[in-house]
Amino acid sequence: MNVLSLVQSNIRELTAYHVQEVEQSIKLDAMECPWSWPQALLEDWQKGLAEVAINRYPDPRAPQLRACLRDVFSLPDSASMMLGNGSDELLQMLVFALAKSGSKVLAPVPCFSMYEHLSRAWNMEFIGVPLQAHDFSLDMPAMLHAIEQHQPRIVFLACPNNPTGNLFSSAEISTLIAAAPGVVVLDEAYSPYASHFNSLSYLAEEKVIIMRTLSKVGLAGLRLGYMLGTPDLFSEIEKIRLPYNINVLTQYSVEFALRHFSYFQDYVQCILAERQKMLEFLQGFAQLQVWASQTNFLTFRCPDADALFNHLKHQDILLKNLSHQHPILHNCLRLSIGSPQENQHVRAAVQEFYA
Ligand SMILES: *Cc1c(COP(=O)(O)O)cnc(C)c1O
Repeated sequence: MNVLSLVQSNIRELTAYHVQEVEQSIKLDAMECPWSWPQALLEDWQKGLAEVAINRYPDPRAPQLRACLRDVFSLPDSASMMLGNGSDELLQMLVFALAKSGSKVLAPVPCFSMYEHLSRAWNMEFIGVPLQAHDFSLDMPAMLHAIEQHQPRIVFLACPNNPTGNLFSSAEISTLIAAAPGVVVLDEAYSPYASHFNSLSYLAEEKVIIMRTLSKVGLAGLRLGYMLGTPDLFSEIEKIRLPYNINVLTQYSVEFALRHFSYFQDYVQCILAERQKMLEFLQGFAQLQVWASQTNFLTFRCPDADALFNHLKHQDILLKNLSHQHPILHNCLRLSIGSPQENQHVRAAVQEFYA
């Protein structure tokens, strides 16, 4: 017997999620926060950490952490909440719960790669509808046509979108929600950086699920995401959630972080100012095409993405090369906004490259 023959063919056709090797000290490839907490905060956190009962299983419901999230983010009581080991895990639970072999999942593309990956892992067909090449906006006729034709069980809309950085309009999102025959997931991983979006009102629709994470505001290592949605659906999904998915260190640490949330708000403000500065810098090069962003990264096109990517690598700076990911991203790079010093290094290296 060949053990490989026991693995389902749809799993065998997948490629494992690839994280590029990091040898650079300026790591701007994954939308992480460039720094840890200030010393005084770190010390407070460490004191409490010593009292966490690592010999005990975590509380599977994490009641304090949930209450804290509801309070800090003013979440409506009427919505049910589920916690995940990163929003990745929530996406996985959701697809698992709604999976039906041969049915469809739809999203505008390019988008976050896990949507397609998880759909295919559960034998669902992924339908990607290309965004418009010039500004990455939705091709609404194509989206509506594809929804009508494929009747997707799930539609994923990242608001704002990764890796393009833009936010689809509220009117378009409403239209797509109305047209969708199944669940619509509004993935708000980057909403802290978006200027004008409040999706909570969409929760009035039973089919809408809102997904959020703390990864893009500085807590990527802790792995905490949450989703909001209708209680009936969530009590079904709850059956497949592994009971201890949020470990004791994460429960304690996120709660601690939320009690110091003003620190995170200051951090977001700093990144927004740095994003504007970087945008204006990149706009200064006739060779570059840069798109405005509602996230903590900028996506831009250059004459030779591989060459600039490698040049920056040699300058100790790691970006994400999107050039070979999708045709409309040809020659595009994605740059996470780092600390002011890191961004200054990037500007110097880009300047040097095009001098
Ligand atoms: C980063 C990202 C996620 C995953 O976040 P985690 O909570 O770290 O798993 C989800 N959706 C989008 C669009 C992202 O960019």
